[in-house]
Amino acid sequence: MKIYDVIILGAGASGLMCASHLSKSLDVAIVDGNEKIAKKLKISGGGKCNITNIDVSEFHYDGDDEFISYSLNAFSKEDLLEFLALNGVEPEIRKNRYYFCKKSSDEIINIFRKETENVEFFLNETILEVKKIDKLFQIKTNKRIFQTKKVIVATGAKSFKNLGASEIGLNIAKSFNIKVKEFSPALVGLTLQPEQFWMKELSGLSCFVNVEVENKILKEEMLFAHKGVSGPVILSTSLYWKKGEIRIDFLPNDSIEKLIQGSKKLVSSAIPLPKRLSKAILKSLDVNDVECRKISKIELEKLLKIHSYSLAPAGNFGFTKAEVCKGGVLTTELNTISLESYKVENLHFIGEVVDVTGELGGYNFQWAFSSAYSCAKSI
Ligand SMILES: Cc1cc2nc3c(=O)[nH]c(=O)nc-3n(C[C@H](O)[C@H](O)[C@H](O)COP(=O)(O)OP(=O)(O)OC[C@H]3O[C@@H](n4cnc5c(N)ncnc54)[C@H](O)[C@@H]3O)c2cc1C
Repeated sequence: MKIYDVIILGAGASGLMCASHLSKSLDVAIVDGNEKIAKKLKISGGGKCNITNIDVSEFHYDGDDEFISYSLNAFSKEDLLEFLALNGVEPEIRKNRYYFCKKSSDEIINIFRKETENVEFFLNETILEVKKIDKLFQIKTNKRIFQTKKVIVATGAKSFKNLGASEIGLNIAKSFNIKVKEFSPALVGLTLQPEQFWMKELSGLSCFVNVEVENKILKEEMLFAHKGVSGPVILSTSLYWKKGEIRIDFLPNDSIEKLIQGSKKLVSSAIPLPKRLSKAILKSLDVNDVECRKISKIELEKLLKIHSYSLAPAGNFGFTKAEVCKGGVLTTELNTISLESYKVENLHFIGEVVDVTGELGGYNFQWAFSSAYSCAKSI
């Protein structure tokens, strides 16, 4: 039976980036259950994938700062952009923050195709288990058994099953007694308690807010939805929210006191938000929609809450809607530089299967690429 130098499990963002940076002299194979490579990358960001962000640092991730920053420095946003530029791809910046492909995600997928011409692909093949017998690994799929000296687990997490996602990465870790944190949905909408059901009535409206969650302030659009609240700022909030309250500033760029001072307008008209939203917020704060200059001291106190509206989510929209998963292989189990298991020599974990999760905005692809690069360079 052939013995590979390296077998990468998963032909997603991290697996492909890793294969692209492994020495071409190595005998490498990639195994994936999908019939095509990079299915998530392909559809992400509306088909133009948001690959990274202007401001990349460990502070935009849930996980161990030191562990994360090593990989982010080893293959930074600048290194990623240089890698793309060398291959003729120049992403565009949206909203002064997010890097997207200009035409489609295929721009990046085609780079991976070219960079992995020396790699053997086994697609449409479900990975079932990994065993280590003496110094060699045996990988069992639904079609065959592979033998290899090194294994890189790049199987991602379990949201979006229709794109090939599974828990196999965690199961492989557990089978070697490597400690994991179970996956839970992240970058996902939040459901509401009955007190905030009024927000459901506003389904389709959005506004720019600041959200305070677990000592972080996140600034972006919030979207009111049938099931609860969503939009970029809420998706990132879901990454840090555990339980209890979050606080929303509905007017982050204004002062409500200044807006209403001496004004003859109705309070709802003085608030620079869609009228339907202003009225609904006033109702929920129990403030009468009177002429601003007639507002009482007690009502003003209540109105000030528009800058720190407290909301205790009931839960989230679940795995089927989550862009990513929190949890994964514990970083304390992995070498910071090589992402190799301390317990099992030559077994590495990269990308989303590791307990590192980024905010919305290109942070998860950046992590997938950076961790893949660190691992590849250590081999
Ligand atoms: C709808 C959507 C949009 C997103 N948009 C963005 C975005 O714009 N920017 C951003 O930064 N992040 C985005 N993400 C998150 C990002 O896609 C992931 O964080 C990233 O793809 C993780 O890379 P990975 O290599 O770890 O895993 P993946 O890219 O998920 O690759 C894992 C691979 O392993 C394979 N696999 C899993 N289990 C098995 C098995 N048992 N047998 C065989 N093969 C298996 C899968 O088929 C898959 O190809 C988005 C996610 C979703 C779902």
